[in-house]
Formats: sequence, C-alpha cells, structure tokens
Amino acid sequence: MFAKRLILILLLALTPIFAFASSNADHPVSPEMGLQMLTEGNLRYSLGQSTHPNISFSRRLLTTTEGQAPYATVIACSDSRVPVEILFDQGVGDLFVIKVAGNVADTDEIGSAEYGVDHLGTPVLMVLGHTYCGAVTAVTTGAEVHGSIPKLVDNIIPAVEKAKLALPNAEKTELITKATDENIWQAIEDILTKSHAIAERAIAGKVVVVGAKYDILSGKVEILGSHPRQTELLGGATPAVHGAGHAEEHAEPAHAEAAKDAHAEKPADATHAEPAVEKTAEGHDQAQAAHGEEKPASGGFGFFSFIIFVLLLIGAVIVLDKKILNPEEK
Ligand SMILES: [Zn+2]
Repeated sequence: MFAKRLILILLLALTPIFAFASSNADHPVSPEMGLQMLTEGNLRYSLGQSTHPNISFSRRLLTTTEGQAPYATVIACSDSRVPVEILFDQGVGDLFVIKVAGNVADTDEIGSAEYGVDHLGTPVLMVLGHTYCGAVTAVTTGAEVHGSIPKLVDNIIPAVEKAKLALPNAEKTELITKATDENIWQAIEDILTKSHAIAERAIAGKVVVVGAKYDILSGKVEILGSHPRQTELLGGATPAVHGAGHAEEHAEPAHAEAAKDAHAEKPADATHAEPAVEKTAEGHDQAQAAHGEEKPASGGFGFFSFIIFVLLLIGAVIVLDKKILNPEEK
C-alpha cells in the first residue's frame, strides 16, 4: 500500500518537470513589448519620473539563483553621459549592455551581441548612438588619434565617408549629426552582415534590430527603427514579425536630408507619442508584469515557484489519499 502511494506521489510530482522540459524556450518578452518597455522607461527618465525598478536584494537573489534573462541587448557608446540602465529606467538583469567608444560593432562587440541575442535570447537588439559623441566628432573632423584608438575608430570611417558624400557642403555640426546617424546604421550593417546567428534570429522574427539615438541634454531616446536596407542586408529576407514596417517607415529619414530634418523635429516614433505619458503608470505595470520580480527568467517559471508547486502537490496527494481514497483509515 505504501509503495503504491509513493509511486502515485512521485508520478504526480514529476508531471510538471516533463511539462516544463518540453515548454517553448522563447523569451517571455516579445520584441514589441521589449521596445515598449525601453520607450516607456526612457520616457519616465526624461520626465524625471524614474521608478528605479529591479534594484532590490530580492532581484539580485532571483537573478543569481535563476540566471539572467535580459530582454534587450544594447550596444552603446562608452561616454559617461550615456548610462544605459539609468536612461531606460531599468534595473539588475534587464539589459545586456555592450559599451564601446563610438558604439561600433567590431569582432568583440558582435561576439558579445551574439551572446545576448543568440544565447540569452533577448528579443531586442539596439545600437544606441548619441549626440555630442567624441569618437564620431574626432573622425569627422580628422582629429589626430594615437595608441590603439585608430584601430578602434576605423569602424567609424565608412559612416563619416557616407555622411560627407550625402552632405558635401555641410557645415561641421550638420556633418557630425549626419555621421552620428550613419554610424548607427553602420554598426547594424556590420552586425547583420557578419553575424549569421543574429541575422537568422532577425529573419525568424525572434529579435528586432533597431537603431536609436540618445540626446544627452534632453535625456530622450529617439528610436530610429530598423536599418533602412535591412531586407537587403538580410539577403532579401523579410523578418517574420517586425522590421519590415520599421524599415519602410524609416527608410527615408536615414538617407534623405529633408526627411531627416522633419524626423528630427518630430522625434515621436509611434512609441514616443504623447498618449504614452498618460498611460505611463499602467504601461509600466504591464512591462513589470512581463519581466517582473516574480518571473523574469529563462522559461518564465521560477525555481522557487517550482519547488513550492511540487511541495503543494505532494501535500494535496497525501490529503487526498488519507481523507478520500482511504477514509476508513481515519
Ligand atoms: Zn560617444
């Protein structure tokens, strides 16, 4: 009798293990939701309404025991005025950040991005440029650089050349602004053409790859969307979920000056629109629910929750066994 009960308890306790083992390994946050969380976090920050989420001990404990499950990989400039987690109002375990002068994507940066996108499965990959970038300015103005810096900034040279070609008569400031934008697209081009793993995930719609620009004075991030030539860079493939829409929507701003200016005056990407201010709190709750303290992790089901679930199940089986199946034993 005891052996039968033991087998019954074991079988029931093992059921959830099989269920979770076969569950979908995709990140619980969708690419759209990830972009929304970044947009809303930046809105809070730029309005001086940061909530500083996920910085408690419980968050550190959770991300230590369950591992990290960030929802965005961000390549940003090392500039001290571009503090990525702060400007997106995010906390521990939310963002996989790669910081490098001039937000370039060379071998090491692409390798790191692959770790974030392909290994950790972040649904968003963002290249974040910024205004007043020293690295872009140095290359644009032909400043003398020494040591290992020439090797670093050589990734920016193609962007500056494109900017000069597009604006042959531009004054310095205008040219630097253009070069900054081109440098963002250059990094994305380098990633999509050199990383098979990221390109594949982009085509499958598992990651949305976007460019964005941070204004170090206003604190606002302008999401520029997918690379204007993303389809071409992906070998003619159109991403399954997004990207296509973004690419078309932003194709002009990146290369046509008139459109670029219009775009600059209207930084409101759909995600930046005014109504977002009103629903900040609500949106934040949604976002928090998606990557909140309870279940931020890999499969979306925490280790501790799992243990508690199993214990409750065993308890239920014992009660059921004693009171209903064998009431005469009472
Ligand atoms: Zn910079």
